[in-house]
Amino acid sequence: MHQLTLAEIARGLADKKFSSEELTKALLARITQLDPQLNSFISLTEDLALQQAKAADARRANGENGALLGAPIAHKDLFCTQGIRTSCGSKMLDNFKAPYDATVVAKLAAAGAVTLGKTNMDEFAMGSANESSYYGAVKNPWNLEHVPGGSSGGSAAAVAARLLPAATATDTGGSIRQPAAFTNLTGLKPTYGRVSRWGMIAYASSLDQGGPLARTAEDCAILLQGMAGFDPQDSTSIDEPVPDYSASLNGSLNGLRIGVPKEYFSAGLDSRIADLVMASVEELKKLGAVVKEISLPNMQHAIPAYYVIAPAEASSNLSRFDGVRFGYRCENPKNLIDLYKRSRGEGFGPEVQRRIMVGAYALSAGYYDAYYLKAQKIRRLVKNDFMAAFTEVDIILGPTTPNPAWKLGAKNSDPVSAYLEDVYTITANLAGLPGLSMPAGFVDGLPVGVQLLAPYFQEGRLLNVAHQYQQNTDWHTRTPTGF
Ligand code: GLN
Repeated sequence: MHQLTLAEIARGLADKKFSSEELTKALLARITQLDPQLNSFISLTEDLALQQAKAADARRANGENGALLGAPIAHKDLFCTQGIRTSCGSKMLDNFKAPYDATVVAKLAAAGAVTLGKTNMDEFAMGSANESSYYGAVKNPWNLEHVPGGSSGGSAAAVAARLLPAATATDTGGSIRQPAAFTNLTGLKPTYGRVSRWGMIAYASSLDQGGPLARTAEDCAILLQGMAGFDPQDSTSIDEPVPDYSASLNGSLNGLRIGVPKEYFSAGLDSRIADLVMASVEELKKLGAVVKEISLPNMQHAIPAYYVIAPAEASSNLSRFDGVRFGYRCENPKNLIDLYKRSRGEGFGPEVQRRIMVGAYALSAGYYDAYYLKAQKIRRLVKNDFMAAFTEVDIILGPTTPNPAWKLGAKNSDPVSAYLEDVYTITANLAGLPGLSMPAGFVDGLPVGVQLLAPYFQEGRLLNVAHQYQQNTDWHTRTPTGF
């Protein structure tokens, strides 16, 4: 049963081959048995899951149908879940039980999805390896000595290991697409504003976006359908109708114009990944696509700009964790300043503290113009590059990451070397564009992802291209040994 996709689960439930309760029990048992190897869950919510599964079975017995009705999923542990620990991977929130559900959580619950638990993540979503979590590193099911990517590494490892069919995740600079690439999954970062951020604990508010992680594009379409839509509680949510993503999966790719940016093929890219990227282009050409070389001239400035803007916003967002209102509080504070200092010093891990310091520095009166303002100008140039490219092509294709998953601990002493691995993903966040990563082959037994980018609100186009590719390739069906 654990090999079933969301689409297959929906059919099985509709045909009464099994109940949601049976499926939920089987997956909870599988998680208990296998997750100790991976550490992909921070909390399991067995009672809630069984209650939701029974309710979904009852709704189906009453004639209701729906792609997510009775489907088991999990939430990255930065989506607030009422009455359930929402830790954000941090000691700071280890004892925080959210008083309300995030909009995404509430929408998926209303659609009948069953929450199996909360998945591990980099602390406050800062990282690319899932090694900064207070709850310990997550392992990559393809090779337990390697990282699963981050920050949504728990969601990715769990889905890749067939502990469940799909999970929610968030992407500020690549945290859906990069772990998807590292674990042989399909992951979609929607257009900024497509999915509500209400109840999603903020890292960098102008970049954060929730989205689906699953094995297939078809399943990403199903999960995104349940997540997307206008939310008056999020002032950056956009009031645009949500198209039927599943309905457009089978559109023809005949005449689709694919742009391949020449800047992507620089010295930092593993040549074996470059070959797999070009092989995916050939596959799409067979389906009728035409290919064109394009240029994104400001791409080289994107990493420095991102690593100013994201920490700047983080330093502001994380100022609320002061040991007073909620979160961790140090023992026996001597006075108010001591309370702030020690609560934050003890509650936040080293990567989060590093980002708060960088961000506060970039925003300080003397340096604002030199760093923050400059980074915002680069952000506009990056966006302009994309706008120019999308007058010539329908999608942009390239590698998701320059290298496959690295070994656990390999980049711990050099944070900048990890930041550089985000080179292909962060531009979409700076510009607010949708992006998808799909499985496209293996290097040394480790999965490789290809990234597709599209104009604003063209998530349907990304899913269509990825689905057609997956109808003609079998990379996405490969299962890690032992799972
Ligand atoms: N690796 C990037 C960072 O650490 C992206 C993380 C994310 O998308 N949440 O900022």
